[in-house]
Amino acid sequence: MKVTLIKGDGIGPEVISSACKVINAVCPDIEYDEVGVELKDDEPVIEPIISSVKKNKIGLKGPITTPIGSGFRSINVSLRKELSLYAGVRPAKSYDKDIDIVVIRENTEGLYTGIEYPVGNDAFCAVRVITKDACNKIVHFAFEYARKNKRKKVTAIHKANILKLTCGLFLDTARNIALDYPDIEFEDKLIDNTCMQLAKKPNVFDVIVTTNLFGDIISDLCAGLIGGLGVASGANIGDECAVFEPVHGSCPKYAGLNQANPIATILSGAMMLKYIGKNKEAEKIENAIISLLKKGVKTKDLGGNYTCSQMTDEIINELQI
Ligand code: NAD
Repeated sequence: MKVTLIKGDGIGPEVISSACKVINAVCPDIEYDEVGVELKDDEPVIEPIISSVKKNKIGLKGPITTPIGSGFRSINVSLRKELSLYAGVRPAKSYDKDIDIVVIRENTEGLYTGIEYPVGNDAFCAVRVITKDACNKIVHFAFEYARKNKRKKVTAIHKANILKLTCGLFLDTARNIALDYPDIEFEDKLIDNTCMQLAKKPNVFDVIVTTNLFGDIISDLCAGLIGGLGVASGANIGDECAVFEPVHGSCPKYAGLNQANPIATILSGAMMLKYIGKNKEAEKIENAIISLLKKGVKTKDLGGNYTCSQMTDEIINELQI
């Protein structure tokens, strides 16, 4: 089995190296095809990644920095779009609280189309594209995910009271598709109310399905509920291939300092193992991490004093127990 490996930048190379060590401890037969991004005339060249993922069908990725306010468009967004990785799957499961939520985020359209233009002198417009096809795919994905993973409820999150056409289409589609899944409870909620309820009583949520920007924000909120971005894993899944990556970004303040929490990337690797049918190996990794966190073995972001490499070694040792 060959996996495309994209180390990314910032803390990416450190956390990806940790993930590969842990994955190799349970699955020594996995090989990696490492590819990166180069800049040509200040624009990123992503074709080598695209062709490698298309060939291998599966990728493990570290975070990649996007310039803020100006500069090139997000490489992360472009990869999801180019590879049709339409479903962002972001679990938020706590080891010590009653929280077990999975956010399913539409990954290819919404406000992330990058279409922005000036209107007059001092104003700009951003275009939010919502299509029936993408709504159908993401909502079906969420219900199938719920069924396969024995989940009880799907909640569609929207702002259809204000965004009547775009969120209206998403909500109508979700309501219609829900009729085909009588075994799974369905409800819908406004995004603002959802944020309040997530903060107050997160255990009422199970599977959340939503559009691109709302999913991006909600998944960070959910990461905060379970200890932070250092433990929030993720996957980008399409019909042809899948790329696994943590929810967090390149976290420049920890880059090169051996202080990043590698758990989010290691758990993304465990999601990858489940995706390729290695459930036992994935559960072994998850159980080792839960056991260590319960014993108080933690990195700085979780209030501990383990470095990235020490945490990685502890996880590998725990796998043997
Ligand atoms: P970030 O996720 O990199 O960091 C936000 C904060 O979360 C950090 O300051 C830190 O306190 C904490 N944190 C995140 N990951 C951690 C880890 N592994 N261990 C310990 N603490 C961790 O978000 P940001 O600073 O807003 O973004 C930095 C860059 O990353 C930006 O250029 C952004 O565009 C990019 N980004 C990339 C991806 C991706 O590659 N998929 C995702 C999000 C952000």
